[in-house]
Amino acid sequence: MKKLLIFFPFFLFAAHIFVLHRVDDFRYPSTDTTSKLLEKDIKYLLKHHYKIVKLSTLVRRMENNKSVKKYIVFTIDDTFKSFYKNGLPIFIKYHIPFTLFVYAKAADEHYGDYMTWKQIKIASKYGELGVHSWAHPHLPMLNNKEIIKDTQKAINSFKKHLGYVPDMYAYPYGEYNKRVKNIINRYFKIICNQNIGAVNKYSPINDLDRIAITGNVNIAKRLKIGILNVNNLTIKRNKNIITQISGKVKYPYVFIYITKLGWKKIKTKNGYFNYNPNFRLQKYRNRVIIRYNNKFKTKLILKEG
Ligand SMILES: [Zn+2]
Repeated sequence: MKKLLIFFPFFLFAAHIFVLHRVDDFRYPSTDTTSKLLEKDIKYLLKHHYKIVKLSTLVRRMENNKSVKKYIVFTIDDTFKSFYKNGLPIFIKYHIPFTLFVYAKAADEHYGDYMTWKQIKIASKYGELGVHSWAHPHLPMLNNKEIIKDTQKAINSFKKHLGYVPDMYAYPYGEYNKRVKNIINRYFKIICNQNIGAVNKYSPINDLDRIAITGNVNIAKRLKIGILNVNNLTIKRNKNIITQISGKVKYPYVFIYITKLGWKKIKTKNGYFNYNPNFRLQKYRNRVIIRYNNKFKTKLILKEG
């Protein structure tokens, strides 16, 4: 037992929620995963006794204060046809459940690359469904009325085609802010973002981090991602300039990443770190990642104006 504690001190009690998009669609390398790698990952997880469950199962455990150690959830966003063709057969073969977030407008309007409602219904027999908006908008760019309208359209589509509405939502592009979250949370209890991180039983179920599966990254490496506990995390900005990132951790230093700026090592003083990058955001979607070893805390920062 002692040995175990020495070798696996960080990630013993965390669950990992993965997100994938396309499978074997080589036109889009940034959102694609290959069926070969997916199958390899699933075999690895099964061999090492990970428990692969639906998102609702994981959340139920969290709500009941049960351990989520070695729990894994596969979520799939966008309901691409390439998942139906190349990914779903693998989940069926290994009897692995999943949570599929539906881009409702694509099914309503028969977009060529996307699953039809009939295919969505078939896939749902092997897993469960969540909502991924109606029109897949950049939600923070919409006003409240528009967000509500998009959400209600998605809800109506689900009612019409499936006769029920799931209690789970994933933000399109992983984009949200407080205002967006407040509105979406009126309709859905369980909400997924796309911030890199693990979850444990204390994680908020309306703001669940997910790890993207793309490219040729070893799953063992992704499984090492743990949760960095940061108290009083503050990210101050002056319009689009990030002026300060501060918080409290129990480590001698942390590494802090900002999109387009890169990593910087920041020492802590009396448990506090304080970073004044005075960096002007360059992209619309930016990540602030605070890391110590394999523990992560990620925040999404959107450019304004
Ligand atoms: Zn999406």
